[in-house]
Amino acid sequence: MKTLNEAKQNEKQTGRYGKDFGGQYIPETLMTELEKVTKVFNDLKDDPKFKAELNDLLVNYANRPSLLYYAKNMTEDLGGAKIYLKREDLNHTGAHKINNVIGQALLAKHLGKKRLIAETGAGQHGVATATIAALMGMECEIFMGKEDTDRQKLNVYRMELLGAKVHPVTSGSMVLKDAVNATLQEWASRSEDTFYVMGSAVGPAPFPAIVKHFQSVISKESKQQLQSKEGRLPDMVVACVGGGSNAIGSFADYIDDPSVKLVGVEAAGKGVDTDRTAATIERGTVGIFHGMKSLFMQNDDGQIDPVYSISAGLDYPGVGPEHAALAQEGRAQYVGITDDEAVQAFEYIAREEGIVAAIESCHAVAYVEKIAPKMSKDQIIVCTLSGRGDKDVASIAKYKGVDIDE
Ligand SMILES: *Cc1c(COP(=O)(O)O)cnc(C)c1O
Repeated sequence: MKTLNEAKQNEKQTGRYGKDFGGQYIPETLMTELEKVTKVFNDLKDDPKFKAELNDLLVNYANRPSLLYYAKNMTEDLGGAKIYLKREDLNHTGAHKINNVIGQALLAKHLGKKRLIAETGAGQHGVATATIAALMGMECEIFMGKEDTDRQKLNVYRMELLGAKVHPVTSGSMVLKDAVNATLQEWASRSEDTFYVMGSAVGPAPFPAIVKHFQSVISKESKQQLQSKEGRLPDMVVACVGGGSNAIGSFADYIDDPSVKLVGVEAAGKGVDTDRTAATIERGTVGIFHGMKSLFMQNDDGQIDPVYSISAGLDYPGVGPEHAALAQEGRAQYVGITDDEAVQAFEYIAREEGIVAAIESCHAVAYVEKIAPKMSKDQIIVCTLSGRGDKDVASIAKYKGVDIDE
C-alpha cells in the first residue's frame, strides 16, 4: 500500500507535463476543491453512464460530430497537399468551446454544484458557459475585464440574455488575465455551491487535463472520418493556439502517431519581434501564473506583459502547460502568423470555400496556405476551423478601411 505521502507525490506528478510544466500553484483554500474536481473527473471520465450522458448532449445539443470537409478549391488553388477542414464552426454557439463547457458543467452537476462561474476575454467562453447554465438550470456569473465589457457590449448582452450575471473586473489592466484572477478569487471565497468552468487548457491541475479530455473529441472524430474517406492518417494537423484548447483537442488522438506532424499556430500580431504580439511559445519564458507553471509573456521581474493580437481569442499572455512541454520535446511545432496574414486568410477562405471563419482559426488557415504548396499531392493536412467568423466581420471591415454601419 502507498503511504499518504507517496500518494500525494504521485498526484503532484499527474499534473505535470514534460520536465516540470503544469502543477498546482494555488492558495491552500482551493486545494480541497481541486481534489474534489480531480476525483469526480477520474471517477467519471470512463464511466459508461457519464459517457452516454455527455454524448447525448454533444450529439443532440451541440450538433456533433462536426464535419470533416474536403476543401477542394483550396487544395487545387494551392497545388500541394490535400486539405481537410475540421468544422468546429458548425457547432452550436459557433465554436469548439461548447465541447469543453458541456463536459465541465456535467462534472459540476455530479459534484452537486448549482452555480457556474467563468472568466471570459472577448466573451466567447462566457457565452458558451451561460448557454449551458441556461440549459441545465444553473446559476451563472461571468467575470470579464472592464476594458473587454466596453469593447464587447454585444456579447455582454448575449450573456445577460441567457440569464447570466456579468461582473466587470476593474483590477490590473482590466483584461482577460485579470478576469481569470478574479474568478479564482471568487471560487476560493465561495466553493460550496460553485464550479469554476475553465475556458482553455490552462490553470492548475487537473484543468489542463480536463479540458484536453473534453476537446479530444475533435481528434477522435477527425481520425475516424479521415480513415473512412482516405483510409489513412493525415501527414499534418494544424490548429490555432490561444490558451491551447482547440489545438490540444485537435492533436490529442495523434500525439502517439509519430508520422503525424502537429503544428500549433500562435498570433504574432504585428510581428514576433515587436512588442505587439501574443506568440507566447516563441517569445515567452518560464513562469508561474494562473495556478500553473508554463511559458508566459513577462518582464524580467515576472510581471505579466500586455499581449496583442487582432483576434481577441488568441490574446492570452500564457499557454497551456502541455503545449509548453510538446514544444520543449519537439513533438509539436509552433509558428507565428501576423494580423495581416490572418486577415488575408479570412478573405481567402471566404472566397475559395464560401466559409467565413473566425479570425482565430484564420491564423491556422494562413499557415496552411504557406505549407500546403510545399507538400506533395499525396499528402494530407487536417486544419481545425475553431469557430465561425460572423463575430469578426465588422472589425475586419474596419481593419481594411471599409466604412460599414453597424
Ligand atoms: C477562444 C477561441 C480560440 C482560442 O482558444 P484555445 O483555447 O486556444 O482554443 C480559438 N478560436 C476560437 C473561435 C475561439 O473562440
